[in-house]
Amino acid sequence: MPSILGHTLAGLTISAAFTQGKPPRRTWVLATACAVAPDLDWFVDFLLRSPGTAFSHRGMSHSLLAAAGLASLAMVLGFRRHLGSPRHWGCMLAAAFSHSLLDACTFGGTGVAFLLPFSSARYVGVWQPIFVSPIPLSGKLWEWFLFSLGTEAVWIGIPALMVFAAPRVAAWSRLRREPA
Ligand SMILES: [Zn+2]
Repeated sequence: MPSILGHTLAGLTISAAFTQGKPPRRTWVLATACAVAPDLDWFVDFLLRSPGTAFSHRGMSHSLLAAAGLASLAMVLGFRRHLGSPRHWGCMLAAAFSHSLLDACTFGGTGVAFLLPFSSARYVGVWQPIFVSPIPLSGKLWEWFLFSLGTEAVWIGIPALMVFAAPRVAAWSRLRREPA
């Protein structure tokens, strides 16, 4: 997985993309929660110690069905008055799905079971530019962490900067075009 920082930034970025760069607090909090929550399966994995099952890491909680469930929960918790709003739904769903997509594009770790409970197949991206966040006891922890963060800075951080900067650049260029 990318680190919790990477998933958090992805959630923030998606909330900004859906709100012209200025997400209300409720939107960015819930989008970030949706983007981070699938990794709660680490605790299930730790308790059950049953690798490769539906509830092990990158299993059920990383599926498309779970992303839809998370988005629905976020809508009920935060946007009851906007239940018919495709924009709100799209934002929450994109944030939840970003987690599994980023995991699949991460070099290292197991594949993502996108289609559970219908298929237990685990998928990895054909392109994996992000390096998996280090797991304790995996050797040169600090060096690996920094390297992994570097790949996140490039592949999550730069797109995030562009999303946050785009509305401001557009506003600035509009101001410049206006006659004095
Ligand atoms: Zn994950």
